[in-house]
Amino acid sequence: MPMPLPTPAPAENIVALIGHTPMIQVTQLDAGPCELFLKMESQNPGGSIKDRIGLSMIEAAERAGQLGGERRHVVEATAGNTGLGLALVAAQKGYRLTLVIPDKMSQEKVFHLKALGAQVVMTRSDVEKGHPSYYQDLAARIAREEGAFYVNQFENPANALAHETGTGPEIDAQLDRRIDAMVCGVGSGGTMTGLSRYFARAQPRCEMVLADPEGSVLAGYVKTGKLGKAGSWLVEGIGEDFLPPILDLSHVKRAYTISDRESLETARLLLSRTGILAGSSSGTLLAAALRYCREQSSPKRVCTLVCDSGNKYLSKMYNDFWMADQGFTDRAPTGDLRDVIT
Ligand code: PMP
Repeated sequence: MPMPLPTPAPAENIVALIGHTPMIQVTQLDAGPCELFLKMESQNPGGSIKDRIGLSMIEAAERAGQLGGERRHVVEATAGNTGLGLALVAAQKGYRLTLVIPDKMSQEKVFHLKALGAQVVMTRSDVEKGHPSYYQDLAARIAREEGAFYVNQFENPANALAHETGTGPEIDAQLDRRIDAMVCGVGSGGTMTGLSRYFARAQPRCEMVLADPEGSVLAGYVKTGKLGKAGSWLVEGIGEDFLPPILDLSHVKRAYTISDRESLETARLLLSRTGILAGSSSGTLLAAALRYCREQSSPKRVCTLVCDSGNKYLSKMYNDFWMADQGFTDRAPTGDLRDVIT
């Protein structure tokens, strides 16, 4: 038996369990001459890396006097993991939370947010920025009218700071300060920006690598300096059709474009080989990390993230029928239940 890891003392509340996530070395996948490590952000109490920014953005607002005392209402535009992170922190701290959500988002996410006590305002998915019903414009207006704090993760510096002061130092310490490359995706850009800034200072030789879904404009921007036309992709939480204001790509010199098929197949392979149930964006990151590793001619220590758990995607990427419907698996669904779970 290996030596057990130290068992932490009881936490004072759930918010105190955010961060300090474990790391796993992946030895069951072909990483060429490299050592590959996964930082398990899915182990945060809300199930994703976004718990960190839920906490950092609310506490930064408290310190700036934008929240707390009489002002106890928080507004954000998201149906994703940021909403869950904010809802967890708002529940613990006794804040009212309003989330503006485009109506294409899954019922499970909406039910989960409501169960946590968030007020959910549904809005149209078919309108663009500048339209009064566009989810971000609507959230900004509600915050203005109600005198609430508008979180705005795409422009909030406390987003990247959570990773510069938390995620980055944790990874560095867990890898005994020996890291050659860090592979990240970009949604709001908080993770990439924060980790780039930390490693530029602490480990200037650490290469920052972008993993981007096919259809997103970011990998092309890293390679050519130009913004191409965006397409669409199924992977959730990463990839953009614009450059988020807080995103700093100046430290990123290498980028990989990963198709939905490769992302989802890689996440499924990870689950079947290691038992790690990761979400779709983690499949993109892992696929890029594996490609990077296999291209190396000398051993490197490479880290990437499991951004969220695969629980939310059981009926999609982990369901063979869905995969077949999308054209990702050749095997025709037989109706045999074993096909769903094998
Ligand atoms: N993976 C998932 C599942 C996410 O929800 C997000 C955030 N949208 C990311 C990765 C990307 O993180 P960031 O916003 O820090 O760029």
